[in-house]
Amino acid sequence: MENPVEEIKKRLDIIEFIGSFITLKKAGRNFKAVCPFHQEKTPSFIVSPERQIWHCFGACGEGGDVIRFLMKWENITFIEALRELAKKTGVVLRKVSFEDRLWKKRERFFNMNFLATEFFQYVLNKTRFGKKGLDYLNSREVNSSIAKKFQLGYAPDSWDSLKSFLKRKKFAEEEILENGLIIKGESGRYYDRFRGRLIFPLKDARNNVIAFSGRTLDENAKEAKYINSPETAIYHKRETLFGINLARESIKKENNVYLVEGEFDIITPYSHGFNNFVAIKGSALTSEQLMLLKRYTDRITLFLDADTAGEEAVKRGIDEAERFDFDIRVVSLDFAKDPDEAIKKDLKSFKKVLEKPVAIYDYLINLAKKRYPSDSAFDKKKIGDEIIPYLEKISNPIVRSHYVKKLAKLLLVTEGSIENLITKLKRKKKILASYKPIVSHQPKEARELVIEKYLLSCLFQEEDNKQLFKKIFSVLTAGDFYLPADQKIIRQYVEFKNLKKDSLKINNFINQLAAELKPIFDEVYLYASIEEKLNEESLEKVIYEIKTFSLKRQMKKILLEEEENPDKNKQLISLNQALKEVEKKLVSL
Ligand code: ATP
Ligand code: MN
Repeated sequence: MENPVEEIKKRLDIIEFIGSFITLKKAGRNFKAVCPFHQEKTPSFIVSPERQIWHCFGACGEGGDVIRFLMKWENITFIEALRELAKKTGVVLRKVSFEDRLWKKRERFFNMNFLATEFFQYVLNKTRFGKKGLDYLNSREVNSSIAKKFQLGYAPDSWDSLKSFLKRKKFAEEEILENGLIIKGESGRYYDRFRGRLIFPLKDARNNVIAFSGRTLDENAKEAKYINSPETAIYHKRETLFGINLARESIKKENNVYLVEGEFDIITPYSHGFNNFVAIKGSALTSEQLMLLKRYTDRITLFLDADTAGEEAVKRGIDEAERFDFDIRVVSLDFAKDPDEAIKKDLKSFKKVLEKPVAIYDYLINLAKKRYPSDSAFDKKKIGDEIIPYLEKISNPIVRSHYVKKLAKLLLVTEGSIENLITKLKRKKKILASYKPIVSHQPKEARELVIEKYLLSCLFQEEDNKQLFKKIFSVLTAGDFYLPADQKIIRQYVEFKNLKKDSLKINNFINQLAAELKPIFDEVYLYASIEEKLNEESLEKVIYEIKTFSLKRQMKKILLEEEENPDKNKQLISLNQALKEVEKKLVSL
């Protein structure tokens, strides 16, 4: 069999494959989507069925093949992606000829965590040390099948039982330390991180145990109620959502996810059939978590604890909602502290709460009204001050108009006066922004570059490009292009066109392209699909424009030359003449 990488790519259709993760829309010969790897609203992610590649023309600028896509999507290494795709396509990976150290390490950490999970479960269920843990679970109404589902365990109150266990399994202390399961004491001795605690394995969406959290069983303990593994090669707190492995299918099906605070706020709902809950574990909701959720749903319901008014969470949620285009709602409890307690106290009322989610903006307006309840002008102004900054951020005009109306009604003022305030705020923001130095993630490319890439893209994408080829190269030579890489590609392409009369398929050309030029070619190839504005301009104009840029560059170069050049003037005059002609031509087009 040939190269397994090539074989895998042959067996997968990139459109079908990427299309199973995100929604692709046909755009000419290619497909378009909102880039899943950074936040954006207008699609700049392009997939080419002919070339079987993808590229993002937005802020992230990423691109590649199916393997690269899966690597990015699952946040895994090349080998991991290869293995997954090999399994999917039935390609046998006989031997991997290159080492991937990071992959090996991750694989060992996953394996170590798998064994540690078994160890903790064993201690909980099969030893006398576990009794404390079982009693505790009992007291919190967690039955054994749910405990098994979440693979709950118990870490014995000992300094080194896990360490000894893992060492017997041939793990070195250094790697156990690096994976966060032991701690190095001041004396240099290693000891178990989790001692005398109920253990919750933290998993990623693919069911790998990436870390642990442990709850003390001693309500009066001085130490933290919960402790967690530190950041490791496989555990990134910002990307983690407790329960996502069990919830993801249900989140997709319901097109909604409930975001709660803690471990038991997942476990108790789950045991009552509420399967689309995930926990942020007492920290702030991050953009990484939202990005992960965006794969499964575009609706989020924040489940706020009664104690923490949750206002901060809501306010942070708004910016994110707009950035990620999430529909965010809020449910809140008034009869219990958190979902865990609420279900046990009064399942009926809990269900009622779920039935009445409030859109985030309504929630904010209600909150402000509660805080400033009077009908005085002063209170009204306060409510306006609080709410208008949020309304200003709403990008959808229908949604915004809806809330402008609502606020106007509440304050008994005209909608115009609210709109007025929003406009004022917008203006103010604009002025503030104009004072800031321009730091854009996506610098506007010089027209010089843009039109060059565009022209080449049109040339390469056109099936029968004989005419266009002639048109271009009757005016331009490879040297007229700005980027050295583009020049190289053109030289090779012209040679290719002149050589092979019958098999002019673009893929044949790419196959013989030097490896370092391939990614550049890929980007150029797809460029016309993104720069649609240029479709309205005539290609002939673009060709002559490229020529003027080239001539100007040549003149500049001569003018800047240091050494003596007796022909300097002559050259300049002839270049200038050529430039005049091209400009004349441009005007006539
Ligand atoms: P329980 O129901 O077990 O008492 P809780 O979820 O009601 O826990 P909170 O104090 O509200 O407890 O904490 C919410 C979540 O925050 C916890 O479930 C846990 O994931 C996390 N957490 C709590 N305390 C800590 C801590 N000291 N360090 C790290 N994370 C913590
Ligand atoms: Mn709780």
